[in-house]
Amino acid sequence: MIVQCCVCKKVRKDGHWVELRTPLRKGAFVSHGYCPVCAAKAFEEVRRVVADSAKEPDSKKKTRVYSAA
Ligand SMILES: [Zn+2]
Repeated sequence: MIVQCCVCKKVRKDGHWVELRTPLRKGAFVSHGYCPVCAAKAFEEVRRVVADSAKEPDSKKKTRVYSAA
């Protein structure tokens, strides 16, 4: 089974991520994932998005509604 990074298209070979020199054989079973470099980038992106959404305290403030009974 071949593991290929879905971002930079490197393939894992003997525990190392290397550039693909030859096209993948037809019918080869390829599993897509992240190499450590792209995984770190993806993680940073997720962390940034989470941090941004946490920066909006106003949207979580409840507006008090008084209804005249
Ligand atoms: Zn990669």
